[in-house]
Amino acid sequence: MKIHVLGGHGGLAKGFATTSFLIDNTLLVDAGGVAGTLSVDDQAKIENILITHCHLDHIKDLAFLCDNCFGMKPGPFHVYTHATVKGIIKAHLLNDIVWPDFTLLPSSDNPTIKLHEVVEKQPFLVGDYSVTGVKVNHAHDAMGYFIEKAGKTILFTGDTGPTENIWKLAHQIDNLVAIFTEVSFPNRLQNVANLSDHHTADSLKAELRKMPNVPVILTHLKPNYREEIMQEISRIGQAVQVLEDDGVVFNF
Ligand SMILES: [Zn+2]
Ligand SMILES: [Zn+2]
Repeated sequence: MKIHVLGGHGGLAKGFATTSFLIDNTLLVDAGGVAGTLSVDDQAKIENILITHCHLDHIKDLAFLCDNCFGMKPGPFHVYTHATVKGIIKAHLLNDIVWPDFTLLPSSDNPTIKLHEVVEKQPFLVGDYSVTGVKVNHAHDAMGYFIEKAGKTILFTGDTGPTENIWKLAHQIDNLVAIFTEVSFPNRLQNVANLSDHHTADSLKAELRKMPNVPVILTHLKPNYREEIMQEISRIGQAVQVLEDDGVVFNF
């Protein structure tokens, strides 16, 4: 699998895009940073989109994808997410107030975007991929996703504070090859991280003990604390990789 990190940060600023991982050019994990990082033609090549949770930095570009690619695709963007998140997207983003309801445009029979519900821990097929969602410790039924293709599985946790179930399942996946997870705040803001269900370097150090021994890539750093967080990560004494810049490609 080719993982193109279109956006891997927990904030939006010049040089920093919010979360979007593009797998093999057609499967997108989160829609926080896809509209401003891909050409419209490449946006239209996306077929399926997994959404981890409802926060704006993970869903906002659903709006722009629909607008940019309107009428360009033979079928809709298929979006998979928890029922709670589906309801939130319908009520608060594609609600005909903030943005047009592209689930009904140009028609309900032939929409620009179609929202599907994911049931936790029930594997489902998306194109060539087998996907399993597991809830994590973050707002409004947030889920991480195990994505398997050709005998390799990659785990994207999305945003999460300290959590348990996803690591239990991760230990049962023999072909797990990488974990993409998060660290968002510096240690001095541990109380903010606790309140918002995110990690600092300190809480991540404890979390790493729960994870299987595979490469861990850290994303979702807040741009304004990036240098401070990276220094703190370098001192935890664990072999983890912090995402350098948006736009990098991983091959697994
Ligand atoms: Zn986020
Ligand atoms: Zn979030």
